[in-house]
Amino acid sequence: MMDFESLLNESVRLHGHLCAGQVLGVRLSILGLREAGINDPKGADRKNLMVFVEIDRCATDAIQSVTGCSLGKRTMKFMDYGKMAATFVNLKRSLPRRDGSEYAAVRVLAREESRHLAKAYFPEVEDRYEAQLEAYKVMPEHELFEVSEVTVSIRPEDMPGRPSGRVVCAMCGEHVQDSRELAVGGKNLCRPCAAGGYYEGPFFSQTAMQKMHNDFGIRSKLWIESGGGPFFGNGKVLLLKAIGRHGSISQAAKEVNISYRKAWSYIKTMEERLGIPLVECKAGGKNGGGATLTPEIRDFLARYERIEKEVRLNADERFREIFGYGGEK
Ligand SMILES: [Zn+2]
Ligand SMILES: [Zn+2]
Repeated sequence: MMDFESLLNESVRLHGHLCAGQVLGVRLSILGLREAGINDPKGADRKNLMVFVEIDRCATDAIQSVTGCSLGKRTMKFMDYGKMAATFVNLKRSLPRRDGSEYAAVRVLAREESRHLAKAYFPEVEDRYEAQLEAYKVMPEHELFEVSEVTVSIRPEDMPGRPSGRVVCAMCGEHVQDSRELAVGGKNLCRPCAAGGYYEGPFFSQTAMQKMHNDFGIRSKLWIESGGGPFFGNGKVLLLKAIGRHGSISQAAKEVNISYRKAWSYIKTMEERLGIPLVECKAGGKNGGGATLTPEIRDFLARYERIEKEVRLNADERFREIFGYGGEK
């Protein structure tokens, strides 16, 4: 392995500037690799190493530089913990008692005290940050870091190598690699579709939109409220129209699957609320004989159906405008 100075120079080149994070990251890597038994991370050992980093800060670039591990190679895993720590996994140290996907590893944590200790090393340096940078170069490892032995499970789909498979998300139609899909209600969904993603915007891919174009429509439901509750909607419309068709309340009630009593109580309530008569009854036999709708309720029904149609057409049009497809349901 190269010496500290050349590792730091290389890291600064990759990162773009010299900073305390580079010094800390390089030293953390040297320690972690040594403890994990990795001597030649970019050469002979390059297939034996995986690193988990716990923060997306300067030091992470140093770890990438020293170890040669990267996200793209799938040898670096980013765990968004906000901690200045990294775990070095020697893939040769798999634990025999398990299925081979568990490994003995070394976690290195930067000690919080080291930030304050640094000042004592260079009391003459005014700038606290400058003092840290210089101190991190010379402080002994035990002052800078805490090392612990841990075990790490790595799933086959997280290992380097060929993608383990591709599935299409049943919702957005985009392809998902490496078993990142989630099974929800018997369907494979991508993570953003299943649980919400980091972005908002066009939810569906162009391909998916094309596919769904003729299949999607918007539904809206309308009812009239009175006194804070629903009082006239689709159910009442069906009952009234059935009365109009059959000329009989009992037959209409049967058609819409309610009792004769219930039908009558609906009619009575509507008459009270609307202040108009709904039916004209003719003398007849059992169950009230014949009944026809009054001109007043026919007019009311016609107006209701008109507003319902307009709302539906408007919803369809807005659906096409906003979503860009469907709407002809
Ligand atoms: Zn930096
Ligand atoms: Zn999706």
